[in-house]
Amino acid sequence: QLDPSTLKAFENAAAGHDGVLSDPTGELLIKPCTGTEAEFYQQTLQEHPDFAELIPAFMGMLQLGAPAQAADSAAVQELVQSSQTQKDQSHSSKIATETAIVLENLEHGFSKPNVLDLKLGAKLYADGTAPEKAQRLDKVASETTSGSLNFRLAGMKVWNGESFDTYDKFYCRKFNAENVKDGFATFFSGLSTGLKQDEAAELLETIEAEIAKARNALERLESRMYSASILIVYEGDNAALETLMGGVPKTPRAQEKAPTLGEVKRSEEEEEEEDENEPPTAYKVKMIDFAHAAWTPGQGKDENTIMGLKNIEKQMDMLITRLTG
Ligand code: ADP
Ligand code: MN
Repeated sequence: QLDPSTLKAFENAAAGHDGVLSDPTGELLIKPCTGTEAEFYQQTLQEHPDFAELIPAFMGMLQLGAPAQAADSAAVQELVQSSQTQKDQSHSSKIATETAIVLENLEHGFSKPNVLDLKLGAKLYADGTAPEKAQRLDKVASETTSGSLNFRLAGMKVWNGESFDTYDKFYCRKFNAENVKDGFATFFSGLSTGLKQDEAAELLETIEAEIAKARNALERLESRMYSASILIVYEGDNAALETLMGGVPKTPRAQEKAPTLGEVKRSEEEEEEEDENEPPTAYKVKMIDFAHAAWTPGQGKDENTIMGLKNIEKQMDMLITRLTG
């Protein structure tokens, strides 16, 4: 059970609104959300379990100020339904801020998570959006690669060996269709310092394959997602990354003597403990931010979002070519 009084601010977002929280272990992310996003997660779990693999694990809802509900469907459904009923009435904005979704924290388990938020779509708002907001978002799209490539860099942070270099949304908006590849190069610069060339290429190909997986799923589903993102996380700590990629860490182990009995026992216990959790990985790629997303049977595939994913795959291809010559 999640005790709201133990939650702390999540300081490691690459982009987005304030108000995101994390639990004491850092495994969970608590994101204040609209009824639309809560409904999207719930419906995905029930109706599109394959797609649920491509987004953060959904643990349930949290009424801020109330204890967390377990993700058993009855409890979650009740909460989602009650927030929907309330949404139909006049107090929608207040209700929305009191409701949060509890998600897997995609940065958890990394030593120094490098994070890139890629915002998808050229049209960035759903039908029915207030004209002023629609015009504002169209203007941003026309001035960024959102308009030309159906995606833009929305924010990133990159470990430089001593601290994180952060690139905010205003910095990221300056890239154009020609030089956006430099943004990708900056984000993935940790690969060339941490890995051999073939290992770096392998990791880039794996990440690209994950993006293609999301695109393939959207090609055969009927949805509309405005301003959703694909979030790429990879290990920024060179030694940790090398170990994860199966190489030998650059810094040799402190002592190479045989372990004592006590040490063997301890490492066995650690292994058991690790089995319960997910094994550490070098990377994670998931779609996020479904504040303006819905499953829309009968409307066909979401070309607006799919085109963005295709163009991100092209950028990854270019980077791999550059790396392998
Ligand atoms: P919004 O843009 O509406 O504020 P997002 O869902 O895009 O909300 O989240 C904002 C930022 O928080 C993202 O750019 C990302 O860095 C971080 N974030 C969101 N969801 C997760 C998650 N499940 N795990 C880790 N970080 C996340
Ligand atoms: Mn976002």
